[in-house]
Amino acid sequence: LQPTEIDVNELVEEATRLVRATFDKQIEITTRLDREVWPALVDRGQLSSALLNLAINARDAMPAGGKLTLRTRNVVLGVREAATVGVGYVGDYVEIKVTDTGTGIPQSILDRIFDPFFSTKEVGKGTGLGLSMVFGFAKQSGGSIKVVSEEGYGTTFKIYLPKADTRA
Ligand code: ADP
Ligand code: MG
Repeated sequence: LQPTEIDVNELVEEATRLVRATFDKQIEITTRLDREVWPALVDRGQLSSALLNLAINARDAMPAGGKLTLRTRNVVLGVREAATVGVGYVGDYVEIKVTDTGTGIPQSILDRIFDPFFSTKEVGKGTGLGLSMVFGFAKQSGGSIKVVSEEGYGTTFKIYLPKADTRA
């Protein structure tokens, strides 16, 4: 684990290219990137596997196709927002949002999806480790992950990553 200053847009674009090349064409993939987004202080490999995990989950939730959108933006979290989002410190974060138009997640299991080995997929199709890894990565980085989902409409995961201190 080696946190360095990461260009989040570049990593999102890299993940998007990979996913576009491998996912079924019925899934429309869009990015909305804030060109002024701050660099984040995270491990590069872990961020890229987190993005791929979220994208694959989104794909699995859209068996008949749909839309996958990846967004980036800067957020300044005050005391109240930091508590809501679940980060330990008030300050500057980069938010990455991954939204799908899939099945959504039933309210009844929403509090378990980040648990290791929790999966609703058939045996052999899911390990239930993806989201627990993404959660661990976000927390270890000093950030957080949140989910908003509505059954029948889709799901949004929001990852908060600490801004890299760019002062010399
Ligand atoms: P796995 O993909 O191996 O099942 P994950 O930890 O990645 O394990 O996800 C856990 C569970 O959370 C999934 O089995 C699924 O029920 C639910 N889930 C995760 N992402 C989504 C999504 N985008 N849409 C609907 N359900 C999801
Ligand atoms: Mg998964």
